[in-house]
Parts: sequence; structure tokens; C-alpha cells
Amino acid sequence: MVVSIRPAVASVPVYRPGKPAPVGPDGVSFKLSSNENPYPPLPGVLAATQQACERMNRYPDMANTELTAELAAKLGVGVDQIAVGTGSVAVLYSLLQAVAGAGDEVIYPWRSFEAYPIAVQLTGARSVQVPNLSDAGHDLEAIRRAVSDATKAILICTPNNPTGPAVDHDQLAAFIDDVPDHIMIIIDEAYLEFGTAPHRARGLELVRPNVASLRTFSKAYGLAGFRVGYLVGDPQVAGAVRAVSAPFGVSLPAQAAAVASLSAEDQLLERVAELIKERSLVLDGLRDLGFAVPDSQSNFVWLPAGERTAEYSDAFAAAGLITRPFVDEPDAGIRITVGEPEANRLILRVAESLPR
Ligand code: PMP
Repeated sequence: MVVSIRPAVASVPVYRPGKPAPVGPDGVSFKLSSNENPYPPLPGVLAATQQACERMNRYPDMANTELTAELAAKLGVGVDQIAVGTGSVAVLYSLLQAVAGAGDEVIYPWRSFEAYPIAVQLTGARSVQVPNLSDAGHDLEAIRRAVSDATKAILICTPNNPTGPAVDHDQLAAFIDDVPDHIMIIIDEAYLEFGTAPHRARGLELVRPNVASLRTFSKAYGLAGFRVGYLVGDPQVAGAVRAVSAPFGVSLPAQAAAVASLSAEDQLLERVAELIKERSLVLDGLRDLGFAVPDSQSNFVWLPAGERTAEYSDAFAAAGLITRPFVDEPDAGIRITVGEPEANRLILRVAESLPR
């Protein structure tokens, strides 16, 4: 007899992590496939982490007490409104597990973050995917129309991974007012700190009993390797996430690094400001070359490459740039992380040579 794996698990799509970078012809190699922060850790963050390692024989603080208190103070919310987890993707898995199951539906825009279909399927619920608008942003009206008696949750990704645009704040507020309030609305703001558009959604202001904001230390704070994310929501929702999550999920050094990063926030946000400047350079450069690149409020740009997607990503790889191609329809294209200045200039040089 073999163990029987639940059908929802046996057939779950595989999460594809960004590939490591190959070495290009001049010995260059840049990984632009996972929306990581190209800056190395700040010395103070590294020191706090190393100090925490001295206590590695002990379990971490399961309640993430210090980190939660710092976050609550910074955001002006109660400590009971925060749930910290092993990256925001783990928090998302826990939250969906808490609200959806077999026979339920979860709605989200598509194309969007590739963990969504996996997370939904693992709960046993059914994914309802709503195509994005032609500007690569979410179609909130169509999402509203997709709501049924079986809907248990709606995911909103702002700015949207992998296409880039942010949802308009007032439109999202009106959408939330219009959705029945027994439906959990999760606003995934992984790239929040990279936003510059004046009317972009501010998820925190929209938090209420059925609305939560999902955030991460992986992008703006540069801690992708340590896995720290969190949710801000209603105390009941945050409590459910904590109850579902595996105990001691956030390691000692990860908690220490996150706390130290909050103390060093000004310096980290200066780096973000540099990355935003670099994003403009890449976005404008690609548009000047004639590519129809949608707005980006994040640390990546979306190159709609259609049937040339594989060919283009091969051309980038040959120059030492690993990008993230999405070859399947609809909307085949390439997501390119804004990286080091040298990498960003190389993106434009390669783009110039691409066949049209
Ligand atoms: N949400 C979105 C939209 C993302 O793009 C990512 C990372 N790729 C995450 C959540 C997860 O981030 P993490 O688990 O590293 O916090």
C-alpha cells in the first residue's frame, strides 16, 4: 500500500523559483528573475543577525514579540492586528487555509503572483481567475462580477506581480464597500515601498474585519533569504493566521534582522529611492525603444513579448541577464527585476538588439 496524497496536493502546480544567473560573454552575470534587492545587507543588520546566531541552541520567540511591537508602533495598529510568518507567502497560505476549503471559491486577477493558484488549490478551494485589463492592471469590476455564493476570499495584488501597475486607492475602497463583508479581501502589498503614483492603493487605510494587508521584508528591506513577512488585519484574522501557522516559523536571526532593518529604515528607503530612479531609466529606455511596457510601481518591469518571449529571454541570458519569462498565454512576456546600475544598462543594450 502506498500513502494516498490528497488529489488537491497531488496535482498542485509547481512553484518555479528564479534561475541562478549564468555567466555572460564578458564574465558578467546578474540574477533579475526573483525581484530581489541587489544591495548587500547593511553592516548593522548583519551584526544583529550574527549576534542572534550565538543563541541558535534556543528556539526563537514564537510570538515574534519585539518585531510585532515595532511593527505595531510604526504602523499605528494594535499588536493583536499583526501576524508574522515565514515570508508573506507563508502568511498567505495560512490565511487562505483559515478561510477557504473544499467547495469554496477564491477569486484573483490573472496574470498575477504565481503562488496564488498553488495556495488556493492546497486549501481544496477552486481558483477563479479574472483577466487583467489591457493596461495590465486589475479589472475590479469583473472581479466584483465574479463573486458568487461560494466566494470565500479575493486576492488583490498591488502593485501587481508580474505586470507592475498599482490599483487606484479610491477604486479599491469603493470595491471593498461593494463586496459582501463575509468575504476575506487580501491586499498583497509585497512591493508597496516602491510605489510612487499619487493615487496608488494604501492597503493599511483599508484594513477592516474582512480586509487585510500582506507585507514582506523580502523586497524593499532586502531580507529575501531570511523569510519574514506579515499581515495587518483584524485581530480575529491575525489570530487565525497565527493559529494555522507552524510554530517557531521565523528563525532567531530572521527576527533580529527584521527588527534591525526597521531601525535602519531610513537608510534602506534611500536604497529604494535609488532603485526607483533606476526603474524609471529602464522603463523609459524600453519605451523609447518602442516596447509597450506598462506602468511599474514595483522593483521590476514587464516586457510584453508575446510569441517572442522565449527568444528574448534567451537573448538576455546570452548577455548574462537571467530574467523571468512567462511563456504561457494569456499575456506571454518577460518580467525583469531592476537590479544593479550595470545590469540595468545592460538590459537596455540587449533590448536594443532584440528582433521585432
Ligand atoms: N506577494 C507577491 C506579489 C510577491 O511577488 C512575492 C514574492 N515574489 C510574495 C508575495 C512573497 O514574498 P515573501 O514570501 O518573500 O515575503
